[in-house]
Amino acid sequence: MYELPELGYEFDALEPHIDARTMEIHHSKHHATYVAKLNDALSPHDTLKNLPIEELLTRLFEVPGASRTAVRNNGGGHYNHSLFWKMISPGGSKDPSGELAGAIKSIFGSTDNLKAKIIEAGVGRFGSGWAWLVLTPENKLEVMSTANQDSPLMEGNRELLGVDVWEHAYYLKYQNLRADYLEAWWHLVNWNEVEKRFSL
Ligand code: MN
Repeated sequence: MYELPELGYEFDALEPHIDARTMEIHHSKHHATYVAKLNDALSPHDTLKNLPIEELLTRLFEVPGASRTAVRNNGGGHYNHSLFWKMISPGGSKDPSGELAGAIKSIFGSTDNLKAKIIEAGVGRFGSGWAWLVLTPENKLEVMSTANQDSPLMEGNRELLGVDVWEHAYYLKYQNLRADYLEAWWHLVNWNEVEKRFSL
């Protein structure tokens, strides 16, 4: 059985960039529903339902056909959101430092260029999905986006930073202005968490 993780801060902690009502619905309704539907989809599959979520998502091919789409969508949703809540924070370091800062500078030129690339990836994602900074299997930093609730992990990448660009993540406050949401979201990036994932 998978469980909805604690958010780790209050719903209103990310104001004014992300409003409390959006956080409440996003965590206690959307994320909770992914968890419930994932558990439903796996209920007949005893060997799969107790795997760590990361492992489950790299073994989707083992999920019987009738359940596979539900596991992919809801398992990806559970995993992505569990990361997302930690990648933003009311506190935390506001800039990358150490080896991560050096890697960002060498690949993207500057943190501002990285920001622009992530925003571009998020705005350019047609429909619902995510924009990411990942570490590829070749240990290279890369910006990418995924559709729906697919996760970079499914292709062997390690997520360092990700942003949800589903309308449910921003529509109450930003309506159609996805780029404005992404600009505001950038203020909340928890670089301590990004660095922690970089050095895993
Ligand atoms: Mn979401």
